[in-house]
Amino acid sequence: MIQAPYYHQIGKEIEVFEHSYTNKIPFLIKGPTGTGKSRFIEHMAHKLNKKIITISCHEETSSTDLIGRFIIKGSEAIWLDGPLTTAVKEGAIIYLDEIAEARPDVIVAIHSLTDHRRELYIDKLGETVKAHKDFMLVASFNPGYQRGFKELKPSTRQRFVAMTFDYPNEKIETEILVNETEIEIGIAKKLVNIAVKIRNLTELGLTETVSTRLLVDAAKLIHSGLPKRLSVEVAIVEPLTDDLEIIEALRDLCNLMI
Ligand code: ADP
Repeated sequence: MIQAPYYHQIGKEIEVFEHSYTNKIPFLIKGPTGTGKSRFIEHMAHKLNKKIITISCHEETSSTDLIGRFIIKGSEAIWLDGPLTTAVKEGAIIYLDEIAEARPDVIVAIHSLTDHRRELYIDKLGETVKAHKDFMLVASFNPGYQRGFKELKPSTRQRFVAMTFDYPNEKIETEILVNETEIEIGIAKKLVNIAVKIRNLTELGLTETVSTRLLVDAAKLIHSGLPKRLSVEVAIVEPLTDDLEIIEALRDLCNLMI
């Protein structure tokens, strides 16, 4: 049997997800990028033996992309189910990553799936599809990044069970790095110390700070033989900002720490 993708539990999210799944209540994960949201959903889908269909939402994502469209083949118009319709019919887990980025018609389209009706209206066919009993809707959104400009309305949020994901504590984050990359524990600890230090430097005004993902990337580069300082510079410092002064200050700080 294939093992579930590795996921280190941070709080009570596994239990909460299992109960949401039992009750088929939509699940919303809030939190910054790189905090394990997607990994968690992959892990849970595997654990529950369910197919997962992931949609990375962006500002052009429309309900048509999710529900489906007619395509012209020869002289015929053929209907093609979109990923949401497929998930609804097959009883898969649909994961709408960064849902607040999508166009407003996406939110309208999912409403009838997120309440007692559990049905999807396909306007182009004039049909209503009842969701398979195993169908579940999961969404993520990043409140910090979208602050003040792309919010989720209360009428949408209140259709979900919601949990906040954040950076794990030092012990767990070190374990994640070792597990993901087989890096030595001593180096993993140093990388985590760098992350903690930079996360506390709120005065830098970074849009997003060091995520677990950046640490994993740095650890992978080090593990494959790239020099430590260079790995930290290209995997942690450079992706964070384009401000040359901040880059230099962070590089100096990191060089002292690794
Ligand atoms: P998000 O979806 O929140 O942007 P991801 O799920 O893609 O973030 O996580 C980024 C990477 O960080 C993963 O590929 C994994 O290596 C690591 N990671 C973060 N949190 C965890 C965790 N709790 N358990 C295992 N790996 C994690």
